[in-house]
Amino acid sequence: MREQEEFHEIMIIGGGICGLATALGLHRKGIKSVVLERSETLRNTGAGINIYLNGWHALDHLGVGDQLRAKSIHITDEEGLRCVKRRDLIDTLANSLPAESIRFGCRVVAIETDPTTSFPIVHVADGRILKTKVLIGCDGSNSIVARTLGLKPQNLLQTQVVQGLTSYPNGHGLSNSFLHVWGDKLLVGRIPADEKSVFWFVTQEFNPKDLETRDDLRLVRDRTTEALRDYPARVIEMVKHCDIKTLSLHPIRYHAPWHLAFSDISKGTMTVAGDATHQMDPSMAQGGCSALEDAVVLARCLSREMPVGLSGCRASDQEMLERVGGALRRYARERRWRVVILSTKSFLSGSLLCASWLKRFIFFVIFSKILGGRFSHTQYDCGLR
Ligand SMILES: Cc1cc2nc3c(=O)[nH]c(=O)nc-3n(C[C@H](O)[C@H](O)[C@H](O)COP(=O)(O)OP(=O)(O)OC[C@H]3O[C@@H](n4cnc5c(N)ncnc54)[C@H](O)[C@@H]3O)c2cc1C
Repeated sequence: MREQEEFHEIMIIGGGICGLATALGLHRKGIKSVVLERSETLRNTGAGINIYLNGWHALDHLGVGDQLRAKSIHITDEEGLRCVKRRDLIDTLANSLPAESIRFGCRVVAIETDPTTSFPIVHVADGRILKTKVLIGCDGSNSIVARTLGLKPQNLLQTQVVQGLTSYPNGHGLSNSFLHVWGDKLLVGRIPADEKSVFWFVTQEFNPKDLETRDDLRLVRDRTTEALRDYPARVIEMVKHCDIKTLSLHPIRYHAPWHLAFSDISKGTMTVAGDATHQMDPSMAQGGCSALEDAVVLARCLSREMPVGLSGCRASDQEMLERVGGALRRYARERRWRVVILSTKSFLSGSLLCASWLKRFIFFVIFSKILGGRFSHTQYDCGLR
């Protein structure tokens, strides 16, 4: 097959929460970009996602906060928290982008640097070669961009999460609160997504056998129900009657906070954002929120260096390399300690499940005395700079 060449000034790899939000952040600054997504359609399946105040600030800066608030309910016992259906979040971000911003069926298989210009060159599985001036990797946990940048891979936390949505056609009748019920090495969370549906998750010790059969959703549901046998009937019924299409099992992986503190997430005109940089344990519900923050900060840093938009083509290649390189270094600096704190808190919180009482006490002290309390990070507004 003859190889074809294409050029896009800013290329984002990955059309998940972070890639779509980054494209939207740039679009709102008048900067055009293209998102390459390996799937043939948006990956908008799955259950709910808890969004804290810091995530809502980011969504407001992206201009979609009110649309999503209208589709979710305020949880009264945790400040700013709302649970949004993943489908609503992904669809809202995607629908706010100009037509043709997302290229589906583009699986990136290799990235190299042009020896003459020093700009990135992207190879797609179908043989196409795409040239770009700025490459942003929002390609999730197994990021090819992160590998190209030489970042360390994630570790496994020895826990797994099953999550799903359950619909109650006549209303669930629950209060607007986030329920956590701890058992023996088991944690169940339940939060209303709207008046008729409830998002839930069950965190357990990691079991490699469950991973082998994770595509058999009925088996996942039945095993989860069995693990909950000592829980109240209402909790068991919720899992038993979930919408099977929303069910998923995830082994929990995390980028070690101590690696994040010292990694360089930008090189030349290439960088990473979202899970590609900082996958975290979901117990603090900060992976998606911080991916949205990355998007806002990245768009702001790039737009400040490129006030005419890269499409103005006024800058020489050398000037472009320096300005974009500087913008990406500023983005990396601004995000570094924020994500170190979020991932440290997530790591400690995720480790609680299997920890002894002594370890739990030590974690509690670290949280409250050193890291500023369990929810202090949710007050952060990524747009205030
Ligand atoms: C069980 C669980 C519960 C969670 N709960 C919450 C929560 O309540 N609140 C919260 O804030 N966060 C939560 N998170 C974290 C959150 O889901 C993630 O942080 C977020 O989805 C990351 O988005 P992303 O866009 O960076 O990555 P992804 O969602 O993984 O998207 C990456 C995209 O890149 C594409 N891609 C990958 N490789 C390539 C390639 N080579 N070429 C082209 N495309 C590619 C993929 O197809 C995908 O669409 C949870 C995570 C888990 C596992």
